[in-house]
Amino acid sequence: MAVSLDTTKLSNFIDGKWVDVRKSTAVINPATGEEIVDVPLSDAGSVDDAVAAAKKAQKEWALVPAPQRAEILYQVGTLLKERKERLSQLLTMENGKVLEEARGEVQEGIDMAFYMAGEGRRLFGQTTPAELNNKFAMSQRAPVGVVGIITPWNFPIAIATWKSFPAIVAGNAVIWKPATETPIMAYELAKIFEEAGLPNGVINVVFGSGQMVGNAMVHHDDIRVISFTGSNDIGRNIAADCGRKLKKVSLEMGGKNAVIVMDDADIDLAVEGILWSAFGTSGQRCTACSRVIVHEAVKEKLEEKLLQQMQHLTIGNGLNETIKVGPIINKVGLEKIKDYIEIGKKEGATLLEGGYELSGTDYMGGNFFIPTLFTDVEPTMRIAQEEIFGPVVSLIPVQSFEEAIEVNNGVSYGLSSSIFTRDVNRVFQAQRDLDTGIVYVNAGTTGAEIHLPFGGTKGTGNGHRDSGVQALDVFTEWKAIYVDYSGKLQRAQIDVE
Ligand code: NAP
Repeated sequence: MAVSLDTTKLSNFIDGKWVDVRKSTAVINPATGEEIVDVPLSDAGSVDDAVAAAKKAQKEWALVPAPQRAEILYQVGTLLKERKERLSQLLTMENGKVLEEARGEVQEGIDMAFYMAGEGRRLFGQTTPAELNNKFAMSQRAPVGVVGIITPWNFPIAIATWKSFPAIVAGNAVIWKPATETPIMAYELAKIFEEAGLPNGVINVVFGSGQMVGNAMVHHDDIRVISFTGSNDIGRNIAADCGRKLKKVSLEMGGKNAVIVMDDADIDLAVEGILWSAFGTSGQRCTACSRVIVHEAVKEKLEEKLLQQMQHLTIGNGLNETIKVGPIINKVGLEKIKDYIEIGKKEGATLLEGGYELSGTDYMGGNFFIPTLFTDVEPTMRIAQEEIFGPVVSLIPVQSFEEAIEVNNGVSYGLSSSIFTRDVNRVFQAQRDLDTGIVYVNAGTTGAEIHLPFGGTKGTGNGHRDSGVQALDVFTEWKAIYVDYSGKLQRAQIDVE
């Protein structure tokens, strides 16, 4: 039975209270075009209120021992687990991804809760010998204060957990602005935080547009960190604004991820990997495979098998368990994909399959695009360089392993890459030479696990990582502490015998 929301209009969650906002807009189910709920369009005043609450709450929260802070995250994880099916269905309704993938995304949140709760008993610093006698030296993590997180629509719950859970366990208070397109996961997660007993003001959810709420967060002097996931254009401006304020900023942005298929690859396995990472979430993952770099010796075979398997991809409303490919998030996304099809054709790539929006009774009201395959694509073509964010793959033929690596690295992004080969030497050379933050061997470009660092090189980010223990670096400052128990003044570098 389909799940439903307990309200027709969402409210902000500020200082532990649900706060109504006068202006709002409708959240649309991308598979049906139906309105699901209204989401507030807050103004900068709501950000001010949230920051004031967070500032006050953070002072006390930072004094709660980290293992006790972690207890709340264990409780959050337990509630997420109990509600996994409900959340997954709501996620499919607001975002469109098929139910199986929605369940996977909620599971990521559950995993992150238990993993970060464990950090409450670690948050390791270092102890190290001091250079003087009767002196002790150590380093430890300190919370930064009030942190702002800005999340995209394509992973409405997982990305928020990658950011908020480490922030909270480390003793910060959070202002979270979810994407206006997908606010329901934020509403449900805020309710979970409330039920889990998180003190008022430690997490605050402010709904509204990036231009208004996101921008107000970036410019607010009392928000000390901005952790942003989204597009490059927006991220670049955020970084510039944060730079002017000397505000710490963590950016996770786009990708142009490739699967390399070598001449000795298990082709059937490679086809499975490509289908899953190119057409899962209709290609709307930052790690989606949008290029296949194939050795010319196996190009024809790969094309043939890919085309065969693409015929089995069922497209439609992801709440139907038989569906493999869901809708595109909105009309703007759909138009962008259509534009890239025309660009690809004009550039001289061969359209082997697809290339059009799906219409007709089965697709009424939704934004559906057929899985699409271009071949004989040149590495410099725009369809091989720019993020399309749809179910469109470009096959790029190459003549050698070295050329494959060069083509893989010849884009401005550096998020994820994969290689299919049975040659152990190539495996190790590839993991060394592929210039991306994530490398898969004999698997597609997607499938990150939460206890490893997630993020990319070059234009994908600015050197920070979400998830993994590395996420703690975004939300903590390192403090060096020296305790002199000699009873006299000892001067470092000077009073050394
Ligand atoms: P987006 O348009 O950049 O939006 C991301 C978030 O930023 C949304 O919450 C948006 O709010 C907000 N925003 C927009 N303008 C802003 C501004 N001027 N100041 C502050 N915040 C602002 O990206 P998207 O379309 O939602 O997401 C898709 C992109 O995210 C793709 O490029 C994808 O590759 C990337 N992504 C990267 C990763 C990664 O970890 N590397 C993971 C997932 C997605 P509103 O939309 O509500 O206005």
